Amino acid sequence: MLYKSTRNKNLKLDFSSVVVSGIAEDGGLFVPDKFLHVSREDLVILTKMDYVQRSVFILKKFLTDFTDDELFDCAKKAYSPEKFSSFDIASLKPLSDSVFVLELWHGPTCAFKDMALQLLAHLLKKSLEKCGIEKHIAVLVATSGDTGKAALEGFRDVEGTSVLVFYPENGVSKIQKLQMTTQVGKNVDVCAISGNFDDAQSGVKKIFNSAKCVEALKKSGYLLSSANSINWGRLVPQIVYYFSAYCDMLKNGWINLGEPVNIAVPTGNFGNLLAAYYAKRMGLPVKNFICASNKNNILTDFIHTGIYNINRKFYSTTSPSMDILISSNLERLLFDLYDEDDFKINDLYHKLSTDGVFEISQEVKIKLKNEFYGGFCDDDQTKKSIKNVLEKYEYLCDPHTAVAFNVYNQYLSKTGDKTKTIIVSTASPYKFSKTVLESVDKNMNEDEDIFNTIEKLSKVTKTKIPSPILQLKNLKIRFDKTISKSDMFEYILKKFD
Ligand SMILES: *Cc1c(COP(=O)(O)O)cnc(C)c1O
Repeated sequence: MLYKSTRNKNLKLDFSSVVVSGIAEDGGLFVPDKFLHVSREDLVILTKMDYVQRSVFILKKFLTDFTDDELFDCAKKAYSPEKFSSFDIASLKPLSDSVFVLELWHGPTCAFKDMALQLLAHLLKKSLEKCGIEKHIAVLVATSGDTGKAALEGFRDVEGTSVLVFYPENGVSKIQKLQMTTQVGKNVDVCAISGNFDDAQSGVKKIFNSAKCVEALKKSGYLLSSANSINWGRLVPQIVYYFSAYCDMLKNGWINLGEPVNIAVPTGNFGNLLAAYYAKRMGLPVKNFICASNKNNILTDFIHTGIYNINRKFYSTTSPSMDILISSNLERLLFDLYDEDDFKINDLYHKLSTDGVFEISQEVKIKLKNEFYGGFCDDDQTKKSIKNVLEKYEYLCDPHTAVAFNVYNQYLSKTGDKTKTIIVSTASPYKFSKTVLESVDKNMNEDEDIFNTIEKLSKVTKTKIPSPILQLKNLKIRFDKTISKSDMFEYILKKFD
């Protein structure tokens, strides 16, 4: 299996090279040359497997430069019982005859990014060996919360790697900040930036683009690498859990083999939803994808009009991991919908960089609308959904997941489509305790002490606090530095000298 760039389909590289490079030199994203089919018989076989076996089965179709043993080794390390609190790793829970919730947050950081980042560290390390690169990997991350912590947990104490996370001093939730500043591990570092997420991100981008910095690090034996979701190594593990969810439905007799389902995903950078689309391309029976956004509803507008326009206001919402204007992975979907017309993709993304807007063709608009339903809701509606879902299903969800529930209900009242639907749950409600507590009980206020807020939430909703969050209380703060954006460059050079 080889990979090509969305902006040059003649470029062909194997998985190891693709994972090590992250982004293609032409600025495009790597996509697989073809999608290998998963047949009905395969689905039956998968149903009998555990999560590690299921992931190896799917990964094998993409990582043809890895042996079975190597894949098993990576998957076992990633999805081990020490790291995941749920034995089935990605738990599927029925809420009614037609609504199912796929919980992707039983990993060490209580958000779905663990599903990919736990595995990426091992895949990256092995890939480096395969490419014959004898360098230490320095993973650099700018985060608005979830990615940073998931990268720290994924890479911590993985030999041959170091991870350094920059976060905006006042731009992450209390829990998210504590999760990062108390991070354990020999090869980790965390540093706050005085500024917002854009400052942290543009600082990191500058470092990646600086030949001077890259060269200096190379001389000291380090190779810069990124863990954000444009890396193909982050996408492929996400395809697995859609197959796994379908198999769990089969196993429990909730669907018949071949019966199509809908999938509703709270969306930011479009990685999670794209993985679902790829699963369908491989043969997973899916009818519609429900693309759920918060007030940053650029994707809703895009699905409705075919116009992608980033000239708009940015909102900070109660579902911060979806506060995004440029959904990078959309480029991969468009490449597919345009039948791999790389010339056209170059044209669209050139327009996006010069004018901040592009429009797709009539034909592609129709294709898009055939499979994708787009909707959004604001913070008020998100809070109402948290309360409604709790009352209707006795299920407590986080604000991101609540956005998906809300948009699914919009879809239901518009279409009347009774197809069984998987709603993807991307974070533990305890990661966003303040918003969730305010939603379930108007009289409840946030406590000065975040752990009191957490306890209150647990009491009011009679739900269990996940142990990685409970344990934060006993951890020491290890990283309390704040630097200015202009000092990031020097900070890195000093660190990796
Ligand atoms: C990252 C994240 C999302 C958005 O996922 P994308 O793959 O970027 O669309 C949604 N919810 C949570 C909790 C996240 O951390």
